[in-house]
Amino acid sequence: MSGKLLIIGFGPGSFEHITKRAREAIGESEVIIGYNTYVDLIAGLLTEQQVVRTGMTEEVSRAQEAVRQAKQGKKVAVISSGDAGVYGMAGLVYEVLMEQGWTRENGVQVEVIPGISAVHSAGSLLGAPIMHDSCTISLSDHLTPWELIAKRVEAAGMADFVIALYNPRSGRRTRQIVETQRILLKHRSPSTPVGIVKSAYRDREHVVVTTLADMLNHDIGMLTTIIIGNSATKLYDGLMITPRGYQRKYTLGAETQPLKPHQRLKSEAEPWALEQLDGQDLNESLEEFDEEDELMDAEVIESKEPSQLKSSPNLSPSNSLQLAMEALQLVSKGTEEVSFEFDNKLTATQSIFEFAVSPGIANKKLTAAQLCALGEIVGDRGDIEYSPHHQLIVRVQTNNPNQITSDLSALGLLLSPIGDVAQIKACDFCNLEKGESIPYAEAIHHRIGNLEVPKELKIGFNGCGMACYGAVQQDIGIVYRKEKFDLFLGGKTVGRNAHAAQPVAEGIAPEELVDLVGRIVERYQKEGHPNERFHKFFKRVKEIEGYRHQEMVGFVIENAICGD
Ligand code: SAH
Repeated sequence: MSGKLLIIGFGPGSFEHITKRAREAIGESEVIIGYNTYVDLIAGLLTEQQVVRTGMTEEVSRAQEAVRQAKQGKKVAVISSGDAGVYGMAGLVYEVLMEQGWTRENGVQVEVIPGISAVHSAGSLLGAPIMHDSCTISLSDHLTPWELIAKRVEAAGMADFVIALYNPRSGRRTRQIVETQRILLKHRSPSTPVGIVKSAYRDREHVVVTTLADMLNHDIGMLTTIIIGNSATKLYDGLMITPRGYQRKYTLGAETQPLKPHQRLKSEAEPWALEQLDGQDLNESLEEFDEEDELMDAEVIESKEPSQLKSSPNLSPSNSLQLAMEALQLVSKGTEEVSFEFDNKLTATQSIFEFAVSPGIANKKLTAAQLCALGEIVGDRGDIEYSPHHQLIVRVQTNNPNQITSDLSALGLLLSPIGDVAQIKACDFCNLEKGESIPYAEAIHHRIGNLEVPKELKIGFNGCGMACYGAVQQDIGIVYRKEKFDLFLGGKTVGRNAHAAQPVAEGIAPEELVDLVGRIVERYQKEGHPNERFHKFFKRVKEIEGYRHQEMVGFVIENAICGD
């Protein structure tokens, strides 16, 4: 005579969402023990079973009664909504068993039957909010000290988890959700998407999509699960969608263009991966976690069970985005339109395109048409930042960077990548009036402008001996004077110990200039250490193109770090 405990999660509450095994288990039980409401929810599945109904707070007596009856040799079902192992009866039943010295070998049999938990049923009604790392937190402080709950809310908020709040509010417990919102607002934007789902897949189902700032203005009760998005979660057409990876930033230049799906897993595309952080201060790298991507489900499936995918003739996806696209294609019966719409609308597939814009090498004036075009491209969600380098830095979400570059270039704007590239910064040649040397500045730009170098390199170019645009304070300075050029190397452009570049040559013939500067920058590109600024490189190699580095005289002043 061996009894059995069947601990059953019956899902959110609708018949269709009860698993087959859960239904069978209810069918094969002799006794059903559950909270009144839950027994009502599965009433349609009951046949001959003896039913033990209890009030909500009588969980312990429910568990004890179940164990007692199982020990008598009965098959006893203990039912929980959602999953029995998530704030449900499973743990409690095991606790009662443990107390009684139960062992798997000698005690009654126990089977825990999984169910769809509220986080997943609520998630499905909201769109796809749980796509990235997430956690569940119950705000009920009946069994858990509030201090611990608050600590977990704080930690989850800080770590950018998507958060599902269970038991958010009851008639008496009303302050917990207010406090939770306050804590989360310290770490997340007030506009963070929030989903409030009441009675998922039950009669009075109600779904609200709102924001972290506004969430308390909606009905929240015992039957509600709240899902708080992470910093990447988007609102789209009344849905909450969390992109699978963090948004990737990219800028101009072939190497940094958006990655094609098949390139995503190459190690060079994942500079933030743990394996790639060797030699870096891990703490420092963690602070910069703004970009991420990882293995997609479909790839995992593909490697484990190739037959599943091969059975569909038109599906050979290499990742889930591609899989989703193909599925969409199938439902739209191959019409291009839907997949195009999808592509343009779903921000999850968009990356942040970041680049610098200026009116030209010498020209410093922006036209109304150029400003309008920039404004339109940036819209409400992108931004334009005025930089100290005669440039506007533009950041915009897009999946079509080429369109942006061609539109802006057509209006005469000069676009440059951001990052460790060589940039030539010229003066305005007195409103282009003293413009004789402009062609040389442009020729230098064509030769080495936007070249990737160990660290950002600013080449100042001024059209007369006044050098009023500060050419001599740059990494490399070039000043046009009396139809010849003066050259300055190794300015330290930032820091308390900033200094001008050293004058290394006067009267360089115009026909020599472009090649000379080209060779200097190319040598720095080849021989500079990663992140080594040009002035340090000059000091280390001591000589470039025959120009010797000279130690600075004067008293030593310590440099300070950012924020000091
Ligand atoms: N074992 C359950 C959770 C029980 S705790 C599960 O896995 O889902 C009770 C809390 O679950 C409720 O306060 C509510 O936050 C959530 N919940 C359970 N069923 C729900 C439903 N149908 N819709 C929304 N939230 C639900």
